[in-house]
Amino acid sequence: MKGMMMHRPLKIADLITFAAETYPTGEIVSVRTEGDIHRTTYRETSRRIAQLAHGLKELGIRPGDRVATLAWNGYRHFELYYAISGIGAICHTINPRLSAEQMIYIVNHADDRVLFVDVTFLPIVEKLRPHLPKDLRVVVMTDQTHMPETSLDGVQCYEDILDGKPEEIEWPDFPEEQAAGLCYTSGTTGNPKGTLFSQRSTVLHAYSLCVTIPKTLCEGTRILPFVPLFHVNAWGLPYAAPLSGASLIFPGGALDGKSLFGLMDREKVFSAWGVPTVWFALMKEITENGRLPDGLKDIVVGGSAAPQSLIEAFEEKGINVCHAWGMTEMSPLGTQCNLPEHLEDLSFEERIARKRSQGRRVFGVDMKIVDEKGARLPHDGKTPGHLYVRGNTVTSGYFEDPEASKSVFDDEGWFFTGDIAAIDQDGFLIITDRSKDLIKSGGEWISSLDLENIVMSHPDVANCAVIAVSDPKWDERPLLIVQAGADEKPASQDLLDLLAEKFAKWQLPDNVVFVDALPLTATGKVSKLTLRKQLAEDAE
Ligand code: ADP
Repeated sequence: MKGMMMHRPLKIADLITFAAETYPTGEIVSVRTEGDIHRTTYRETSRRIAQLAHGLKELGIRPGDRVATLAWNGYRHFELYYAISGIGAICHTINPRLSAEQMIYIVNHADDRVLFVDVTFLPIVEKLRPHLPKDLRVVVMTDQTHMPETSLDGVQCYEDILDGKPEEIEWPDFPEEQAAGLCYTSGTTGNPKGTLFSQRSTVLHAYSLCVTIPKTLCEGTRILPFVPLFHVNAWGLPYAAPLSGASLIFPGGALDGKSLFGLMDREKVFSAWGVPTVWFALMKEITENGRLPDGLKDIVVGGSAAPQSLIEAFEEKGINVCHAWGMTEMSPLGTQCNLPEHLEDLSFEERIARKRSQGRRVFGVDMKIVDEKGARLPHDGKTPGHLYVRGNTVTSGYFEDPEASKSVFDDEGWFFTGDIAAIDQDGFLIITDRSKDLIKSGGEWISSLDLENIVMSHPDVANCAVIAVSDPKWDERPLLIVQAGADEKPASQDLLDLLAEKFAKWQLPDNVVFVDALPLTATGKVSKLTLRKQLAEDAE
């Protein structure tokens, strides 16, 4: 027997309509490419989204069409998120840090109809134009006064598309499974792979964020997504903030520590979200200023493991650190590590140790860890295994890529994350490695993340990575690669001594190599693939 409640499809456009009616004065503040600060509200934004949606229809965009963006975090990018998905089309966010080759691949693979581009990134499009689909239209995200000179033909201006359009719209109905967003992973091996989010998965993910991080996502808080709108929907914030009534502060292209500190201070940002490297830059600024940005109480750290030294530095200053784990293929949130009240009484050291874990799963994401043969491993906090997930916000296959999709699901239909992790009895996830970065020495696993975590606590280390090098006797041995901080290069022996306090002798790196800068992926993580390649080339 079926229940007798109404079935209303979950739709993204309803989030902004809700915000406009319920939190009309909730703010969106943006640092613009035009050079100034722009302020608007959810009420005003919902009107402009309606205008943009009319404009998109006039451009010939139909349900299912892909509309691409190449842009910073700002209100126009936010408007595109809603207008595109609102009319049933698919918002394809492109990471401007991808290589030319990757960008050409994904625009053609996605078969984008229109590309909305920030002035800053127009030169990229000019360069790639001959390799992009012939009928791709280009719209520059600015007003007439700021339209730049360009070698491209037929370029349109964003504000012209909105101009004179009605500020109301009847959002069309479609099934909640309708595709709404497309995001390609940086593709460290092979071509980039597209994750296709649906209306339903996006709304459920927004609910999930609000339920899981309620002290941050609530009416009146001011949140700064440092994580880009071009990277997994800025971790879902553009949807969760309007749902919860939180305001959004968009930093545009002003991403250095000083600009970030200034913006957070002026705008009284309560919570900011980003990858660990950003928080190191902010901490440097905090130390130089001798104070915190006014109003800051909380940071959300994800994308790669948050080192203990980072968590400590912020928590010591009274800032709550929420360590989170996820993947593009998971929309992205999988776990988060705000501590429950009964753990708030732990000693400072114990709390920090807990917060180093990736935390507990969110409702709707199931997790299992298995051995090489696929047998389930116990949740005892010490047995690491291959981590698999399933759930309403987890991908069921890559966009138009059956070959890549085949290899990432097990016989029970669970998604292979590629992470190695343990889960403890209280449900806390502890990621120890990527399976492709794992170091297997004499048949035993050595966690590169654990080693890196300790090395990062040395004051003269700016960044580091531990990778496997082949060894005739032990199969593989760990090698430590270090980028020194601005002041002084640490002595190799000091780093090894630091590690020896926590690790057995056989787990210690045999060698330490210093580099000027570690290679980064398009999402700002250390690229161990590139490091391994460089090392192999050096050895030749
Ligand atoms: P990409 O960087 O390739 O575009 P993602 O951002 O989806 O893709 O990367 C997801 C991966 O990042 C995870 O599988 C995991 O290895 C790593 N990761 C994300 N958050 C954390 C975290 N808090 N701790 C450790 N690893 C993390």
